[in-house]
Amino acid sequence: MGSKGDNGVLSKLKLEKLLCMKGGQGDSSYACNSQAQARHAQSMLHLLEETLDGVSLKSPEIPFVVADLGCSSGANTVRIIEVIVKHIRKRYEARGYCKLPEFSAYFSDLPSNDFNTLFQLLPNYGSSMEECLAADSHRSYFAAGVPGSFYRRLFPAKSIDFFYSAFSLHWLSQVPESVMDRRSTAYNEGKVFIHEAGEATAEAYRRQFKADLAGFLRARSQEMRKGGSMFLVCLGRTSVDPTDQGGAGILFGTHFQDAWNDLVEEGLISEEKRDGFNIPVYAPSLQDFKEVVVADGSFAIDMLQVFEGGSPLVMSRPEDPADVGRAMANSCRSVAGVLVEAHIGDQLSEELFLRVGLRAEARAKELLEQLQFYHVVASLTLCPTSREEDEGN
Ligand code: SAH
Repeated sequence: MGSKGDNGVLSKLKLEKLLCMKGGQGDSSYACNSQAQARHAQSMLHLLEETLDGVSLKSPEIPFVVADLGCSSGANTVRIIEVIVKHIRKRYEARGYCKLPEFSAYFSDLPSNDFNTLFQLLPNYGSSMEECLAADSHRSYFAAGVPGSFYRRLFPAKSIDFFYSAFSLHWLSQVPESVMDRRSTAYNEGKVFIHEAGEATAEAYRRQFKADLAGFLRARSQEMRKGGSMFLVCLGRTSVDPTDQGGAGILFGTHFQDAWNDLVEEGLISEEKRDGFNIPVYAPSLQDFKEVVVADGSFAIDMLQVFEGGSPLVMSRPEDPADVGRAMANSCRSVAGVLVEAHIGDQLSEELFLRVGLRAEARAKELLEQLQFYHVVASLTLCPTSREEDEGN
């Protein structure tokens, strides 16, 4: 490897093609390891509903359009879209409209997302849309998948009423180049994440997060219809210091980190190989998030808070250390497995997650006490632009 590290699978273009949660419905799939996210989303439903109450309703002749950005391949997105459609229907009914609008739901994620598994989870999968719409209690919206990065444009201008995005915006569009560059002070030597890493490394991640979120807001401000809103949730942290990544830090900075070191010590990979891998995740503080929204200026902040979500682990027997170890390995693997496999191959990836599980098992009690996820939750409404006010639309 030259002095300027090969950004490999973690460069912008490659990450966009590669990144996805583990597809299918196996033990380490996202579909089977996202119950914690479902629980956290459930406990925030009142905040989502308050945001939905702020969306302006148009004539029921115009379809209501909602998009879930970073929908992944589990059932969570299907449940949330249902909540959103039902809530908006209720609002139309409360206004005494005898005719309700048609609903259109876009499920959007990077192209490598397992859209096949997702589409099969849709209620009335395989029925015609007429049948779906007629069966009132079942799916009452037109569904479509939209592949692409949410850091760029995904939809036509002024076409979406409501954007939802949960547990996705902490994924960066790339690992910053300086973090992979041996000559840079930001080079993340010996580490695979920024938790407890050097200040310059964490700063590079912070800059990347801010640039990415700015791109996200720019794209959404063009795509959103007047009166539209969005509800955003991403992993967050309570510390001002970005080298303390909170729950994300424990997930990727402790047993996962030690497991990479194990592979090096056992001679299975070189130090360079380990140092060439970094998790492209940044859990922002409230301040990090707010600064970007304010600088962009297109959205009013109706609500912005840090929300305590709880543990991300899915366990049936939390008192059993082996079950805690297995849950930790599966949780890590469901979100980072695809990137690890691309970097060291399937066999070494198997070895790595085996060690994550064993290390977590040995520290099960401590892990359960410490592993808490905090989320940054935001409700943003599109500000009317002066041009639109002039046009009176
Ligand atoms: N919203 C779901 C899934 C969250 S998992 C839930 O609530 O359970 C995070 C998802 O974000 C993954 O599917 C990942 O592929 C997606 N993602 C990450 N970066 C992305 C990007 N730049 N554009 C679109 N999707 C992205």
